[in-house]
Amino acid sequence: MSAAKRRLQVGVIGLGRLGRLYAQDLAARIPETRVVAVCDIDPLLVAEVADELGVRGRHSESADLVRNPEVEAVVIVTPTRAHREHSVLSLREGKPTFCEKPPALRASEAMEIGDTARTTGVLFQMGFMRRFDRGYQEARRLMTEGRIGRAVLYKSTSRDPYRPALAFADPRSSGGLLMDMGIHDFDIARFLMGEVRSVSTIGGVLAYPELGALGDIDNAVVSLTFESGALGVVDLSRSGIYGYDASTEVLGDAGTLRVGFLRETPLQVMTRNQVVHDTVPGFVNRFAEAFTRQLRDFALNVLHGRPASVTIEDGIEAIRISEAAQRALVSGQRIDLSSAAL
Ligand code: NAD
Repeated sequence: MSAAKRRLQVGVIGLGRLGRLYAQDLAARIPETRVVAVCDIDPLLVAEVADELGVRGRHSESADLVRNPEVEAVVIVTPTRAHREHSVLSLREGKPTFCEKPPALRASEAMEIGDTARTTGVLFQMGFMRRFDRGYQEARRLMTEGRIGRAVLYKSTSRDPYRPALAFADPRSSGGLLMDMGIHDFDIARFLMGEVRSVSTIGGVLAYPELGALGDIDNAVVSLTFESGALGVVDLSRSGIYGYDASTEVLGDAGTLRVGFLRETPLQVMTRNQVVHDTVPGFVNRFAEAFTRQLRDFALNVLHGRPASVTIEDGIEAIRISEAAQRALVSGQRIDLSSAAL
């Protein structure tokens, strides 16, 4: 059967908030894929998702999924602390691998993934779904065309309406606010503006003392300088309250671009002295299309023998910025990304 007609047989590891959505995408929304195996340490989730999607391969051990001969490619959506282990396992088994952001908790661990991909020659693609959002893609295209002139200021906001579950948020598992959430804004900073030169950070525990007890912060502001000389500011919050807000602005010397929206339903209610609309409840609502496009892109790259669209090097660079932002927070110093100590 020709590659164009063939359905890539995918195995999904991790069936939580995002993994379940990915399994549904791969089983039902992407014409070029089907799910032949799922894996989670929670057997109830495995049974539920496998029954829902009619999947035969049911595993509680990631090693069994990657060795399942029916599995041609692996999608990893486990907690960040497990990404390195699962990615290396899958690549060594010769299976093209997609792994959710961040690819690891530390740049050094992500480099191990990169080394394994290089030595095995197996495709590894990073999950940074904002790159597949039509708003961010169009912004990049317009900037490349010169529509806003020279980019002067990058301003990016990520706000969750409330904190995630503590088991998820634990920095030993997620990397903490600056890694888990900031990595999106740092990746898009590179996507739109080029390489980051330095970072400084202020942050604190202002809304959720229980996150402080875990060793994390819940609000932060990171200022950036870029190699181009442009400036940047990223604000991150676990206590956005009004809804999920991922928005980015690039100020150029000939115009400004703004990506993102706050309204979920296309409805505004206008009464005397008041205009009201709803808000976007969560990341799934804001980025549903981007998540599907991202996985489809991975599948098409595998089927057509094309290289990864988002590479482990992109993941490593974004982790390096997150790590530098964390060091800047702790030290109170501006951190230069070229510094050898990183
Ligand atoms: P989650 O905690 O809801 O789900 C993780 C799942 O992995 C759980 O079901 C858990 O039982 C399972 N698991 C844990 N260890 C495992 C192992 N060793 N083998 C197999 N299964 C295992 O987490 P989530 O919110 O779905 O996040 C998963 C990943 O996706 C994280 O890395 C996170 O950063 C990323 N994520 C990205 C976005 C985004 O906007 N791109 C949004 C949410 C989550």
